[in-house]
Amino acid sequence: MPRHIVCLTFDFDAISGFIARGMTTPTPISRGEFGVIAAPRILALLGRYRIPSTWFIPGHTIATYPEACRRVAEAEHEIGHHGWTHVPPANLSREQEEAELLRANAEIKRLTGRNPRGYRSPSWDLSPHTIELLLKHGFLYESSMMGHDYLPYRARQGDLIELEKPAVFGQETPLVEMPISWTLDDYPHFEFVRTATTILGGLKPASGVLENWFDDFDYMTRIMEWGIITYTCHPFVIGRGHRMLMLERLIEKLSDRGAVFLTMEDAVREWLERRSG
Ligand SMILES: [Zn+2]
Repeated sequence: MPRHIVCLTFDFDAISGFIARGMTTPTPISRGEFGVIAAPRILALLGRYRIPSTWFIPGHTIATYPEACRRVAEAEHEIGHHGWTHVPPANLSREQEEAELLRANAEIKRLTGRNPRGYRSPSWDLSPHTIELLLKHGFLYESSMMGHDYLPYRARQGDLIELEKPAVFGQETPLVEMPISWTLDDYPHFEFVRTATTILGGLKPASGVLENWFDDFDYMTRIMEWGIITYTCHPFVIGRGHRMLMLERLIEKLSDRGAVFLTMEDAVREWLERRSG
């Protein structure tokens, strides 16, 4: 029997992403605050269709908006680790990165009663230490890399990558990678960001993004007997009206094509069982 799994994931950054980039004046902060307005709308939509999902929430968001995060936990969505601050691990020392891991673990445990099983790095950039630290602290899976579109794989440790030499790949580890893609992330499609040196245009029509996102699922059903596709949304991005309607249409179209919605943890466990069976 073919089985095509969808993981809907929500990175509940709220204001933490703007703070990590030094954008602490009132308007960028308010832009992040909109995520707290949008989160209950997303929860209501998921509830209406009885869809489990995974929310990667920075410790900063949990500590700043405990009530909004409690609602996510009470609706029994999985809560994953997304840093304490939203600073990418590639910008931290090993000691800072480990301190962030532990601090956000404690925050999530206070919220849900257990440590998170999954980790997604802020801005999807891992450090050379991340895999080792996630294994040390008992994580089951990681979701920041892009090495496949429809299948998990084992994260490697100790790659030697040098400019003028062939790459030497390190050993596979027990940590499961749940790959993602910028094409399946709402942020680059929709957000308009202007800094002193760059402009991210964003503001694409939601209908075009919906078509791309559905077609990536449709292609999976044509070439894979079993597979997983992961979509990444941010409440402050997807929460705008036309995008919420796009998310609802996506859920309907995927359901009509036989999609099975799972949390990331459940999808990982199913993949592990298939490999051992
Ligand atoms: Zn984030």
